[in-house]
Amino acid sequence: MTEFNRVLVANRGEIALRVIRALKTLGIQSVAVYSDADVAALHVTEADQAFPLEGVFGSETYLNIPKIIEIARKSDSDAIHPGYGFLSENALLAKNCEEKGIKFIGPSSETLEISGDKFACKKLAEKNKVPVVPASEEPVADSQEAAKIAAEIGFPILLKTAFGGGGRGIKEAKSTEEVKDAFDSSQREAKSAFGRFEAFIEKKLVKPRHIEIQVIASDDSNEVIHLGERECSVQRRYQKLIELSPSPVMDEETRLRVADYAIRVSKAVNYANAGTIEFLRDSETGSYYFLEVNSRLQVEHPVTEFVTGVDIVGTQIQVASGNKLPVKQKEVKFSGSAIECRINAEDPLSDFAPSSGSIEYLHLPGGPGIRVDTALFEGQEITPYYDSLLAKLISWGEAFDQARQRMIVALDEFKVAGVETTIPFHKQVMQNSLFCSGKINTSFIEESNVVQELLKQETVHSEDSYLVAAFLLSKNQFPQRQKIVLEPSAQRRLSTTGKGRFVEPL
Ligand code: ADP
Ligand code: ADP
Ligand code: MG
Repeated sequence: MTEFNRVLVANRGEIALRVIRALKTLGIQSVAVYSDADVAALHVTEADQAFPLEGVFGSETYLNIPKIIEIARKSDSDAIHPGYGFLSENALLAKNCEEKGIKFIGPSSETLEISGDKFACKKLAEKNKVPVVPASEEPVADSQEAAKIAAEIGFPILLKTAFGGGGRGIKEAKSTEEVKDAFDSSQREAKSAFGRFEAFIEKKLVKPRHIEIQVIASDDSNEVIHLGERECSVQRRYQKLIELSPSPVMDEETRLRVADYAIRVSKAVNYANAGTIEFLRDSETGSYYFLEVNSRLQVEHPVTEFVTGVDIVGTQIQVASGNKLPVKQKEVKFSGSAIECRINAEDPLSDFAPSSGSIEYLHLPGGPGIRVDTALFEGQEITPYYDSLLAKLISWGEAFDQARQRMIVALDEFKVAGVETTIPFHKQVMQNSLFCSGKINTSFIEESNVVQELLKQETVHSEDSYLVAAFLLSKNQFPQRQKIVLEPSAQRRLSTTGKGRFVEPL
């Protein structure tokens, strides 16, 4: 067994801070790395040591393998925790670590090679009797071939890229005519995001639910346990916004069956450490289909930590240093219900466009059953260089409704001024009747009209131009910080959109 003395955290933002906290709890020294944009970041001040990565773009900083390895050696780090995103699923970093005797906190480079390829994973899953969504057998060469195969599979289809992630490169085609455009835009997006494009075609399920299983495997891959499911159906652009555990449609018997699928896939790829096996649940038949392996810690891991009491990040570190899994499968007990809302610097009223600016005011909520994972601080500049996630707000309750009520109170209390955020969107969702009754699917945002409802609420009716001006000023300078109650009147209507809010008299 190799106990770590020092671990380098190759990430930024809330997840770097989360890992640093886990290291401190275990009595392990932490080493941060940072880009020029992150000099004043909390992960830098909270770590025991910090080294600059010089530059601001991902490619020169948090994706710079030689530089990160060099800092790991210079700082005498025993291991690297990659967080999520960036290099977390990068087989080359894992390989470099293996060669240089630095422990990569995650699965082996060999496993990462397979699990990074959705295509190869689907074949392995099928071989292990785990159902998969019908898809092309081989990557398709061009849009003509794509159209031919799409017609065989049957519309609607999705064009996907074997090495994709974060929803990028996924494009829908409803008919043969739409295949060329879908192929071209999938290719453009994949090339710019991942530098490669291996296209495949998958049958599009209609309004499925996204349900995933958290697994943790010992470092030798011999022991794999699951920590139940998370439902992540509330999404925009194929990316998650809200996650829940348990899923409202899961029963004990189904949980065991889907978890068994997840464990079979994990074993098939020789999985080690924490990972997630994603599935889609067909809304009509209730059947589950394997989607992909996320071979890393996930954004939404706190939801599972709340309902199981397992510290997933701490476990990752302990397992990587050769310790046994801290719990046996039969010791995993599920308790209550948890919800996570991703607080992003995005404007829900402008199709979730990223918003940048400086944080002028910040107040974080608290109270029983509330957890906030964030590295945000007043005065921080939110730049367009990185992901838009500002904070994760997680609530726990004895049952779903208590978690939801606590979430509503916490969202009300959560104040961020300076950028647009998804907070108003989440408030709307938490009170939506479909959401309240657990009737969600991956088309929830369109189906529920939450954004239209939000727009109505943001529209102020008033006859008094002074009050209107005051309202606009408060929204511009202190969004959500102050409430100005304007008497409703049909005389004049104000719409507020995006950063440059404007008045729209009717
Ligand atoms: P999760 O399933 O953990 O919620 P997301 O899809 O939301 O994952 O992605 C988590 C983070 O990782 C986001 O910052 C996302 O942009 C990034 N990400 C996901 N996949 C990739 C990838 N293949 N390459 C680069 N970044 C990625
Ligand atoms: P990524 O690697 O970008 O996370 P995934 O394959 O995990 O890509 O899919 C992301 C999301 O796209 C899913 O959660 C789901 O909403 C949607 N999606 C993917 N495949 C399908 C499919 N075959 N049918 C319907 N929706 C899908
Ligand atoms: Mg996915």
